[in-house]
Amino acid sequence: MELVVDSGVKKMEGEAMRKNQTLICAPIMADSVDQMLILMQKAKTSGADLVEVRVDSLKSFNPRPDIDTLIKQCPLPTLFTYRPTWEGGQYAGDEMSRLDALRLAMELGADYIDVELKAIDEFNNALHGNKSAKCKLIVSSHNYESTPSAEDLGNLVARIQASGADIVKFATTAQDITDVARVFQITVHSQVPIIAMVMGEKGLMSRILCPKFGGYLTFGTLEMGKVSAPGQPTVEDLLNLYNFRQLGPDTKIFGIIGKPVSHSKSPLLYNESFRSVGFNGVFMHLLVDDIANFFRTYSSLDFAGFSCTIPHKEAALDCCAEIDPTAKAIGAVNCIIRRPDGKLFGCNTDYIGAISAIEEGLQGSQPSISGSPLAGKLFVVIGAGGAGKAIAYGAKEKGARVVIANRTYERARELAIVVGAEALSLDELSNFHPENDMILANTTSIGMQPKVDDTPISKEALKHYSLVFDAVYTPKITRLLREAQESGAKIVTGVEMFIGQAYEQYERFTGLPAPKELFKNIMSTY
Ligand code: NAP
Repeated sequence: MELVVDSGVKKMEGEAMRKNQTLICAPIMADSVDQMLILMQKAKTSGADLVEVRVDSLKSFNPRPDIDTLIKQCPLPTLFTYRPTWEGGQYAGDEMSRLDALRLAMELGADYIDVELKAIDEFNNALHGNKSAKCKLIVSSHNYESTPSAEDLGNLVARIQASGADIVKFATTAQDITDVARVFQITVHSQVPIIAMVMGEKGLMSRILCPKFGGYLTFGTLEMGKVSAPGQPTVEDLLNLYNFRQLGPDTKIFGIIGKPVSHSKSPLLYNESFRSVGFNGVFMHLLVDDIANFFRTYSSLDFAGFSCTIPHKEAALDCCAEIDPTAKAIGAVNCIIRRPDGKLFGCNTDYIGAISAIEEGLQGSQPSISGSPLAGKLFVVIGAGGAGKAIAYGAKEKGARVVIANRTYERARELAIVVGAEALSLDELSNFHPENDMILANTTSIGMQPKVDDTPISKEALKHYSLVFDAVYTPKITRLLREAQESGAKIVTGVEMFIGQAYEQYERFTGLPAPKELFKNIMSTY
């Protein structure tokens, strides 16, 4: 299948418009040829451009008839890989038979074959110059431990190129997300078609962004977790979550920095919203160990905006050249923008998200009153971490009388002094009810999946509250919220806070008004 040019925009024949030529390859791993044929059809339906036939996964293999069947019956172009155990594959047999099978694949019409750099001399010697003109030779090298220096990677690419490769392939392992930067540097300067991947969760960016940096192809699995190398996304996520076909050299990069981070729904929300208005950006999970090192490494203007979550919200303050006064007062940043002069600006949208959701919850269908409905209310915050600080600060700003209850009493006390509040230990909370009509905000992770039966306060005590908010948003209705509802209180969910803080971030990221209805629709399924 060829790429054709149509009015300056590249597309695959019979497919929707695409802005880049980078291919999506689905690895096919199965016990039998019949199972492989089923997966090949699935790959075609899923939108992959080609399949990688992992011959080493077959339990029995009869080279000539099996390769012939796999090529003739595959609805997509084929790449044949027969990975030996010494390069991370499953084939433990003799080398001669393995290389013979790859030569046979070339002869029978495979579009690509993959030969390891360590075996390429032996392969070339036996080929005697009879290389098929149709079949492209990928010469590959895999490092399952680390990502070498840019200089060593450059030398590796030169050696692969000198071996007669039509396409250079190397895969390394990310010990840190900053390793990916060296691989992008090699990809963007490569004079030959190149497949360059960084394996592992910290290398995910290398798999998603290869169209931006000119990579020849990326691998996408047919099912979550059924990977041929660590860290592969699914074809569906590449196409529908990351808008892979629309990525190009000028695509702006956004992401959520955290550790852990894979649970975050932010990529879902932002990428779908970017697509809805044709904004040229992509939003990813960024598993970051050291936030200062991350920003030092990824300092180009293309790395344009970031959400920031556990445990980096406080360290993020030190990375920003300018900080919004509210974020400074709260002591935590959850949104970072790279300005046109390259400097980082930090702000806190958790505060706005939570407080406006609680205000809306209090007002309900009542006509809006002047001033905040929080003014004068007794507002109990459970927790004194990043979210607790933001919400305690926000409630105080709106004129509430704030009480902070935390497991570690000392932290509650420190925050209470900063905000101008009263401090309690978590144990005192259930017997604390100086008045009725109070507001309660849980900002701890108590009740979050998987510990959904946990709750920070007894049901009995909830009758003293008129509104209960929970920052936890997985599940949407926590045990705390269910019991609050049963006790007659209004409830406000963490999803509403999530949406509220995201409106503000989206507008800062894109300069466009947030598509509020779309945000609500996307999050309504959670
Ligand atoms: P954080 O800075 O790590 O703070 C965690 C807080 O929870 C601390 O006060 C900690 O108490 C307390 N805590 C943790 N485990 C506890 C336990 N088993 N028992 C009692 N207290 C416990 O985290 P964060 O950034 O504030 O996030 C907290 C929660 O809010 C998370 O569930 C997060 O997903 C959620 N959140 C939601 C949104 C949203 O948009 N809905 C936004 C931000 C955060 P100690 O001081 O005693 O350790």
